[in-house]
Amino acid sequence: MLNKIHFVGAGPGDKELITLKGYKLLSNADVVIYAGSLVNPELLEYCKEGCEIHNSAHMDLHQIIEVMEKGVREGKSVVRLQTGDFSIYGSIREQVEELFKLDIDYDCTPGVSSFLGAASALGVEYTVPEISQSVVITRMEGRTPVPEKESIESFAKHQTSMAIFLSVQDIEKVVERLHEGGYPMDTPIAVVYKATWSDEKIVKGTLQDIAKKVKENDIRKTALILVGQFLGKEYNNSKLYDKDFKHEYRQ
Ligand code: SAH
Repeated sequence: MLNKIHFVGAGPGDKELITLKGYKLLSNADVVIYAGSLVNPELLEYCKEGCEIHNSAHMDLHQIIEVMEKGVREGKSVVRLQTGDFSIYGSIREQVEELFKLDIDYDCTPGVSSFLGAASALGVEYTVPEISQSVVITRMEGRTPVPEKESIESFAKHQTSMAIFLSVQDIEKVVERLHEGGYPMDTPIAVVYKATWSDEKIVKGTLQDIAKKVKENDIRKTALILVGQFLGKEYNNSKLYDKDFKHEYRQ
């Protein structure tokens, strides 16, 4: 019976934001393939001596699978360390489809996605009662297309909370399309660069001025755009903690 490949979410940056399970797998691994473009290299300090480390930023899919296959066939423990959580823009599907062809099994340990790291950096709640009860996670198309029915404008119509990945390099275009879709120009918006890293940067503004501020701060990658009234002054208390609200645990 071959070992399984372990997919592990590294978290958004801060090396202490990996789960305990992920940490154990990483410190026990004989082979680690990590996404060098986004995973904080400090996490590799958890690897044991002699651990074979590969940076997938320099590899194509075929090479990644080759390293995985060789590792498990030699009876080694192989960890694929991916940024944030692999379920969000993590390209995990294409990897597991290849493993499936080779009859290699895998398991997954989740990570803290950067949209959660960014909310923590700001100390905010995406789901403020009566203001917004939904979060849209999306991106603008780049080299990877986005289905037309998922355009920024179409989501903007809802004026709910949005976390926009992989798009800060085109902040002007994002703002234009958010406005076209329905968000007024005074809607609060924040850009969080390298959330939870030591060089994290937060830029806050409105649709009116955010693009200028982002340019002034020279932010071009590794950032999230958060938009919506959840970042504004208005809020309502939740029913759950209202002293007159009785429920199962508080009669
Ligand atoms: N799987 C990752 C996302 C990978 S896509 C996750 O769950 O977070 C890469 C994009 O994620 C970046 O372009 C950026 O938009 C965002 N990102 C990743 N780490 C980030 C961080 N620490 N701070 C802000 N944005 C980040």
